[in-house]
Amino acid sequence: MINLEIPSKFKPMVGQAHRVATEMFRPISRKYDLAEHEYPKELDALAALLDGMDDSGGSTGAGASGASRTSNDNGGGNRNGTNLSTVLGIMELCWGDVGLLLSMPRQGLGNSAIAAVADAEQAERYDGLWAGMAITEPEAGSDSAAIRTTAELDGDEYVLNGEKIYVTSGERADVLVVWATLDRDQGRAAIKSFVVYRDNPGLKLDRLEHKLGIRASDTAAFILDDCRVPKEDLLGSPDIDTKKSFAGAMKTFDNTRPLVAGMAVGCARACIEETEKHLEAAGVDIDYDRPGATQSAAAAELLALQADFEAARLLTMQAAWMADNSKPNSVEASLSKAKAGRAATDIALRCVKLCGTLGLTETELLEKWARDVKILDLFEGTQQIQQLIIARSLLGKSSADLK
Ligand SMILES: Cc1cc2nc3c(=O)[nH]c(=O)nc-3n(C[C@H](O)[C@H](O)[C@H](O)COP(=O)(O)OP(=O)(O)OC[C@H]3O[C@@H](n4cnc5c(N)ncnc54)[C@H](O)[C@@H]3O)c2cc1C
Repeated sequence: MINLEIPSKFKPMVGQAHRVATEMFRPISRKYDLAEHEYPKELDALAALLDGMDDSGGSTGAGASGASRTSNDNGGGNRNGTNLSTVLGIMELCWGDVGLLLSMPRQGLGNSAIAAVADAEQAERYDGLWAGMAITEPEAGSDSAAIRTTAELDGDEYVLNGEKIYVTSGERADVLVVWATLDRDQGRAAIKSFVVYRDNPGLKLDRLEHKLGIRASDTAAFILDDCRVPKEDLLGSPDIDTKKSFAGAMKTFDNTRPLVAGMAVGCARACIEETEKHLEAAGVDIDYDRPGATQSAAAAELLALQADFEAARLLTMQAAWMADNSKPNSVEASLSKAKAGRAATDIALRCVKLCGTLGLTETELLEKWARDVKILDLFEGTQQIQQLIIARSLLGKSSADLK
């Protein structure tokens, strides 16, 4: 049975993440929103703290690197593992600041990709590295199977050629997990992921993007010009298996989509709590024990937002719990991301509206959260793509039947 309360063993971690969000993230939120592209150096101290916790055997549950696919070694029982703890940690940290969470050293979405696809030797070799994720190309966004970056074996190295855009932490990460095709004629089965170090010959940082939100997080574009990658840096198996290969690369999303949903949940909670505070200061009574229809319009709207938030939170915890228990969770991962991405965007904008001028001023963080949250309904698969995946599953259609 799924019990969607926070497991007691994770409560200290959740409390710790909340303290980090309160004491480290919130005080520098506005500074790095304004100083786009400047590295938040305060995060180095946090990274050292997290490393210390890892070294002493503690689970930090703080960032994307924690999410991994586990074998079901619990005899079919209930396991609360790193996916759930990571999602819970992320919810707290994103209550603090989404952009700063995305900037945390060694916690990139590429780290989740490594955890999902790497073999044991690779997982050990890449341990401790900060990994960005480079899938998107100018001609391939939602349709990640359409990527054009090629990888050709030349002796003991692959030679990669192509262009990657919108790489989160691209400028700061140690390595990029780059998707490239071994043979375009063999379609999606030939797509593999490669770990590319910053100093691999032929990897060129082209530019940094200016963005609506999450400005603390750098977003980079790269050119791969005869970029040489040792063949042991291909993640997983080099074989092209038309039944399995792309599914292998796509497994990453089953882990990362609940994490992005968790980011949205955290940001949404920040918006709701802030709005509640302002409404109460303005004399609006909010009674959680009475139907919204019997209360003021503002209170009723906040109750509706709370309900939407709770649905998003529970779906997110369910998707992460399923990953911990080795249950196929592709649909639940999409459900969580679709619900949390849309709910959080909606919640943030409605909170801005409920707070009036306080929702728009730079002396408060609400206007920033309303900008930050939008990306969470976009990257790791847009709202429309999640709905497509869910619809295919409900209707029993393949990706060829329903595009
Ligand atoms: C700040 C930021 C950070 C990012 N970080 C990363 C990163 O770290 N790594 C990475 O690889 N990528 C990253 N991305 C890229 C992101 O994942 C893509 O932008 C996203 O996948 C959408 O691709 P696209 O922008 O090419 O839009 P398109 O795919 O061109 O889609 C445009 C619109 O059409 C809709 N659409 C597309 N296909 C369908 C369909 N079949 N049915 C219905 N509607 C459809 C989409 O939902 C969207 O609304 C990032 C993007 C941003 C803005």
